[in-house]
Parts: sequence; C-alpha cells; structure tokens
Amino acid sequence: HFNRLQEKVILVIGASSGIGEAGARLFAKEGATVVLAARRLDKLGAITKDITSSGGKAAAVTCDILKEEDVQNAVTFTISTFGRIDSAFNNAGIAGGRGPIHTLSMTDYDRIFDVNLRGIFMCMKYEISAMLESGGGTIVNVSSGAGLSASPGNSIYSASKFGLGALTRTAGLDYAKKGIRVNAIAPGPTWTEAFEQMCPTEEAKERMAGMFPMNYVADAEDMARAAVFLLSEESRWTTGITLPCEGGKS
Ligand code: NDP
Repeated sequence: HFNRLQEKVILVIGASSGIGEAGARLFAKEGATVVLAARRLDKLGAITKDITSSGGKAAAVTCDILKEEDVQNAVTFTISTFGRIDSAFNNAGIAGGRGPIHTLSMTDYDRIFDVNLRGIFMCMKYEISAMLESGGGTIVNVSSGAGLSASPGNSIYSASKFGLGALTRTAGLDYAKKGIRVNAIAPGPTWTEAFEQMCPTEEAKERMAGMFPMNYVADAEDMARAAVFLLSEESRWTTGITLPCEGGKS
C-alpha cells in the first residue's frame, strides 16, 4: 500500500458488507480515516474494531439512507468526530425486482429507486454541502455494469443505476470549479453477500462469469482498488465519469 489516501477522512455509506466493507478496509490501509455507515451497527462495529486494532483509524455510525436525518447525521458525525469530510464512497445499493415490466410491482420499483437513486442523491446533497464549506473533496458512487448497458429482465435496477450515472455526471460538471470531483465505478459480477443470493450455486456463478471477457467473478477488493484511484490524487484530472470495472465487458 502506498498511502494514497493519507490524511483523508472518508465516509463510507453501505460499509457493513461486500464492496463497502472492502472499501473501508482498503482505504484505511491506504492511510485514510474512515467512517463506516449502514443500518447493521453490529457488523460495522466488528469491522471498525478490526481496522483500529490493526492500527487504522475508524468509527461507525448507524445510517439508513431512506431517512434524511440519518444521512445528515452521518455527515455531521464524520465532521464532529474527525474534524472534516474529504471524501465519500456512496456504495449502498440493492438489487431485485427482476422480470419483464408488466410483471413487476410498484413496491419493488419504489424499494429499489428509494435506495439506489433517492438515497444516494440525499447522501450527495449533504456530503457536497459540507465539502463546499471546506473547499473541496472527492466522491465515488457505486453504479453497476447494469448502469452502462441494459439487459433483459433487469429494468428497475438498471434504470436506477443509469440514473446514478446521470447524477454522477451532473455533479461532476456542477462542482468542477469548486474542487469537488464526483465519479463512479461500475462493478461487474463481484463476490459479495448480494451476489451469493443472486448466484447461489457454483454453476450459476460460472455461468455469470462466462458473460464477461475476463471470465471470473471479481473480489470486493478489486472494486475497492478502483475506488482508491478515483478517491485519490491519482485521478485528479478526472471527474463526472463512471469507470467500467467489469472484466472487459464495457
Ligand atoms: P451487499 O448487500 O453486500 O452490501 C450492500 C451494502 O449497502 C450493505 O453495507 C448494506 O448495509 C448497505 N445498504 C443497503 N440498504 C441500505 C440503506 N437503506 N441504508 C444504508 N445502507 C444500506 O452488496 P454488494 O457489496 O454486492 O453491493 C454494493 C454495491 O455494489 C451496490 O450498490 C450494488 O448495486 C453494487 N453492485 C454490486 C455487484 C455485485 O456483483 N456484487 C455488481 C454491480 C453493482 P445494511 O444492510 O447494514 O444497511
């Protein structure tokens, strides 16, 4: 590790498992101070303890991104605990609601859009407000390969992630002169709890991997590495993009 995030205070939204957890752990190894936010405080507590007991700096805060006061609190908690917020990794997201449109329920639509789009919009709103006050920052949202190209039966999730790409691009442009860079990563199949539910058998996992040129399911840390690049000075001339991280598919 090269301390590429040294001195940075980073809020990780959706840090209790999968890509968010891998992000929090890797950012800490790269020298960052991390605030882990999600609903499951027991998970966050265990990860935070792990990070701090190996010499990293971390704290946990409960946050349900459906609730505006929770999102606001996660940002103020970060600033009151560590003095500022330099960066945010907006990773929280849910999948589901698969099938052709006429079979889908509005409950699924609302459930997925409320987290993947409304929730992340709200995170950006409060993070950016704080970054404007402190003079800059970096944000990385977590989209999906499904946010770059649509595939059968995945309308709701895909539309929510396409929307996230638009939020990322717009914010990249709106704050380019303000020292705030906003980018996203678009993971392909990545081995996490959510992925395991989607592909419960070895056969399903292999079938999924086969759809991607590099032909394997990535580790959550592979995605965290791409996020390190976009959060750090390594990408200082890059804003408003969604970086495909899907084994050569896009
Ligand atoms: P996980 O289910 O392992 O993690 C999802 C994270 O989001 C958890 O920390 C969860 O925390 C958090 N989260 C969910 N809902 C909320 C909420 N309402 N408020 C706050 N936090 C919430 O999934 P992954 O790691 O696989 O997914 C992470 C991101 O990557 C998602 O945005 C997903 O769409 C995207 N992605 C994943 C791919 C994959 O193959 N794994 C492929 C493409 C994209 P908690 O439940 O504790 O609140």
